[in-house]
Formats: sequence, structure tokens, C-alpha cells
Amino acid sequence: MSSSRPHVLVIGAGTGGMCLAHGLRRAGISVAVYERHRTRTDGLLGYRVGIGPTGSRALRECLPPDLFDTFVATCARSPRYFNVITQRLRQTASFELRPDTDPVNTDRSVSRMTLRQVLLTGMEDVVHFDKTFTRYEQHDDGTVTAYFADGSSAVGDLLVAADGTHSAVRRQYLPHAVTRDAGSINIAVKIPLTEHTRSLLPPRVLEGISLIFGTRGMMGILHVMEFKWDSGGGLKSGIGGADAHLLDRWPGLLYDNTRDYINIIIWSTARRFPPDVMRRRGDDLVHLALQLTQGWHPNLRELLARSDPGSCLPIKVATSEPVPPWKPSTVTLLGDAIHTMTPGRGVGANTALRDATLLCRQLTAAAAGDKPLLEAVGDYEAQMLPYGFARVADSLKNNGTNGDDPLYRPVVGRLALLGARGYFGVTSRVPKLRRKFVDDLYAYRGAED
Ligand SMILES: Cc1cc2nc3c(=O)[nH]c(=O)nc-3n(C[C@H](O)[C@H](O)[C@H](O)COP(=O)(O)OP(=O)(O)OC[C@H]3O[C@@H](n4cnc5c(N)ncnc54)[C@H](O)[C@@H]3O)c2cc1C
Repeated sequence: MSSSRPHVLVIGAGTGGMCLAHGLRRAGISVAVYERHRTRTDGLLGYRVGIGPTGSRALRECLPPDLFDTFVATCARSPRYFNVITQRLRQTASFELRPDTDPVNTDRSVSRMTLRQVLLTGMEDVVHFDKTFTRYEQHDDGTVTAYFADGSSAVGDLLVAADGTHSAVRRQYLPHAVTRDAGSINIAVKIPLTEHTRSLLPPRVLEGISLIFGTRGMMGILHVMEFKWDSGGGLKSGIGGADAHLLDRWPGLLYDNTRDYINIIIWSTARRFPPDVMRRRGDDLVHLALQLTQGWHPNLRELLARSDPGSCLPIKVATSEPVPPWKPSTVTLLGDAIHTMTPGRGVGANTALRDATLLCRQLTAAAAGDKPLLEAVGDYEAQMLPYGFARVADSLKNNGTNGDDPLYRPVVGRLALLGARGYFGVTSRVPKLRRKFVDDLYAYRGAED
């Protein structure tokens, strides 16, 4: 090991950690990833994740080209519309989204488990499973040792915390950093997409992403996820050419049991949920989702009732407080480990991917001898902190992911709901405003002209 050709230890084989690991390996930098999960299929982290231009650009930069093509081929059909609907399935607004012909400047729907399998492809020699990080020690010779719960340890020149919201590395390195409950709770379910469940949704909802602004402070989002493979895991008819070739050769499909589904997430202020919601699972949680959505359109309630109880997850939404800059050292952080954000703008994973690319570029410069390792780490942190915490702030302000949002107040809530619906309704009907809305949406998600 030497600081000009560093050996990098990454804690966490999630979105950001694996993107960084691919980038480093492509740059010829030695890297090892340590993941607490025991196998590549462990852990249920939710269902759909939207990867916008920022995330796609990062993946294109870090992944081997054929693996980036596999990522694109394994995404669900891209949404054609962004809809805002009421709890009665009435359309408040509908914005046509851009076609997904460009590999980067588009918004893609990805299944989390599929993305994970893509990111683990070809990395068997890099990722060490069943390694729960417990603590680190920094040494005078510039090295750093990571210790794991099984008694083992690993030594490197840089330790990267990519271990998510509850980061054990952050707890030790930046004990003053605050990650807190945002005060809202989600219940996420997965419903198999069948002829019948498909028939319960209007065409634009079937083909789009639909944000549900419900009355009485109940929000929701609905995604329809359709893949290129069928219920048996074989290619659907009509999928040909390059995609068929990529999917046929991709070993990741063996580990991924993702099939076409509808993903519904409902959320509200934590005050609306029973105190034991985070311990509830299965039918009990589905039942709670149905109780909370009384008065919703019967088709939406039927979808909830038809959800796979094993897929039903409660999620406590978290956010973080900006951390003042610190002196760079042989420990750094990326993604949720440093800037956990609510899903309000759907950019947490995209920002983790952006961090990974930026850190990778800096470490590549250090490995090439262009700058010392600690200067590279400092340059990364100086860029990452401002945009990371700006995303945290935007996310908290959006779509009622903050449990104290006016939407959840007794009288003001009704006005806030009318205001939000009115804003989307007018914006979608006035062509100039509609175009600006869509352009702003893509610009925020990192699209380039
Ligand atoms: C409901 C919901 C919807 C969302 N939708 C979107 C979206 O549409 N678009 C978007 O961009 N973002 C979205 N996000 C946010 C996104 O999921 C996260 O920001 C993203 O996963 C963060 O990636 P990461 O690599 O930092 O952490 P993670 O992906 O959480 O990875 C952390 C990894 O570290 C491992 N780990 C943890 N502790 C240890 C330890 N002690 N030792 C070893 N390993 C450890 C974990 O097992 C995990 O594999 C959403 C979040 C939620 C809750």
C-alpha cells in the first residue's frame, strides 16, 4: 500500500458503495467492499428507485460499458407521464415525460433488487459479505484499520463510509452529525401486475408515475413496473436485438426474482400511525394501510388488498442536519451515510451515485500522483457537502415527507391540499407553465441539453 496507489476499504455494498467500487476498479485502484448482509439477495430495502440523469451519468462513468448497458436493459419500462391524482383516482394533472431513447438524459424506474444485482455483477472478488463493520483505527503511518463483528479486520489507506443512514462509521468519525426522524412514515407494498390488477388503473396511471394527494393528510405514490422478462424469468416476446443478448448473458437474473408489479407507497405524519407500526408486518400492515385509506377509490383499495403481504414494509423517514466542514483524513463518507434525505425529491440514490463518481475522480487523480490522497479527499468533501445538504433541504420541503408539513395540520391542511392540487392543475393546463415544469424537473435531476 502507498498513498499514491491507495488501497480503499468501502463499508457497505449499497448503491453508492458499489458504484465507487466499480469506478475504482476500472481506474486500476485496489478496492475491497465489506457488507453486513450475508448474501447478495439479503435485505429488503423497498422496491422502486428512480434513477435520473445524475445517477445514470454516474453509473455510465463508473461501470464497465457492457454492465451500464445491462443496467439500462434491466430497468422497468420508463414512465411516460407524471400524474397527480386524488384519492378518488381523479386526475388533477398529467405531464408528458421525455422519451427514454437517450441512455443518460432520462428518468428510469429501477427495481432495487435488480439494481443491486447489476452492481454486484463481476465483483465477487471485491465484495466481502457477512462483514458487519464495528469500528476503525487510524494509524500514524497513514493507514486505517476497519474491524468487523466476526473479529476480523482489514487495513487500507482510505476508509469510505457507504453504510447508509445508520452509518456506524459516521457515528465514530462525526459523532456530532445529526440524522433524525423526519416525522413521517411510509407503508410500501408490491402488487403482482396481472390482467386484473392492470384493469383497475386508468391508462395514464398505468403508463406513468402517479402522486396521490389524498384528503385527511394521506399521501401516496403509485408506480407500474414492467420488465423485459416474464413471470418465468424468460425474455418476453418482442424483446430482441442487443437487449436480448445482454439479458441472456447476464448472470444477475438468476439472483433476482423481480417480476412485473405495481408499487404503492402511502405516507403521512407519524401522528396518524399507531405507535407499534414499525413492528407490524404482513396482513396486519396491509390491514392498517386499508384502514388509513378508507374513502379512497375502491380500485386503489382493491390493489392494496391484493398486495403480497410478505412485501408490505413500514419505513420511518429520516433526514439529516448539515455538518460543518472538517479536516480531511483517511476516513470519508458518501451517500446516506453523510446526507440522509427524505424521499421528497427522489434523489437520495442519485446523490449517492454522484458522490461515488466525484470521489472516484479525486482518488484517480491521487493515484496518478496529481495530488496527495488527503488533498483529494478534502477536494471531494468540499464539493459534496454543499450539494448533498442542499438536496437534503429540498427533499424535506417536498411532498409531505416532513411530518410537520402544513398538509397535516387540522384546518390549514385542507387549504394546503387545495393549494397543491390547484398549483399542479394550473401548471399542467397552461402550455408555457407545463413546459417549464417538465424542463425544471429534468434540470433538477441533472439533465443536460
Ligand atoms: C421510500 C423511499 C423511496 C426512495 N426513492 C428514491 C428514488 O426514487 N430515487 C432516489 O434517488 N433515491 C430514493 N430513495 C433514497 C435512496 O434509497 C437512498 O438515498 C440510497 O439507497 C442511498 O444509497 P447508499 O449507497 O448511501 O446507502 P444504501 O443503499 O442504504 O447502502 C448501505 C449499505 O451499507 C450496508 N451496511 C449498513 N451498515 C453496515 C455495517 N455496519 N457494516 C457493513 N455494511 C453495512 C447496508 O446493508 C447496505 O447494503 C428512496 C428512499 C426511500 C426510503
